Amino acid sequence: MARIFLLTGGNAGDVKRTLQRAQQLINDRIGPVLHCSHRYESEAWGFEAATRFSNQALEVSTDLEPEAVLDAVQEIERELGRNRAAEAIEKASTGAQYASRPIDIDLLFYDDAIIATERLTVPHPLLAERRFALVPLCEIARTKRHPSTGLTVGEMLESIRS
Ligand code: ATP
Ligand code: CA
Ligand code: CA
Repeated sequence: MARIFLLTGGNAGDVKRTLQRAQQLINDRIGPVLHCSHRYESEAWGFEAATRFSNQALEVSTDLEPEAVLDAVQEIERELGRNRAAEAIEKASTGAQYASRPIDIDLLFYDDAIIATERLTVPHPLLAERRFALVPLCEIARTKRHPSTGLTVGEMLESIRS
């Protein structure tokens, strides 16, 4: 049994409802959602977008291995309308690295595992740079430590506050 932290987010469609459905599907397929943060709004990160993003952090207890968690979240993204082909077209036309999407689910922490495979990097490699991830995560995991840097989520957030 592992304790994992996921970040759900999106900026297209009925995001509040999509995040609620994502939470339900995560609970049904990955494992019980133990804690979840409020939804936080922020400006798009890394590209220009007409609509703001909402993000929510979830703590989940799971029997799945890390790659199986990734398979499950990608399946949930597809079912909730994420279309990677459409995103690729948008990215090609804007030249940006990111595109608007109804749902994105990232694996932030998997226990204290450090994973670097072709498909999966855990903890999420950009976590320490992303206020939009650290703010919701801090609400439910302020004292959780990053397994490589040793910093707590609260400390990581403080360090990008300036
Ligand atoms: P970012 O990773 O910068 O937040 P993104 O979420 O927009 O970008 P996606 O298109 O959703 O990127 O995912 C690209 C790939 O990232 C996925 O196919 C997956 O294999 C890989 N990946 C690596 N590490 C993780 C992780 N910790 N959580 C989710 N996906 C990951
Ligand atoms: Ca992401
Ligand atoms: Ca993602």
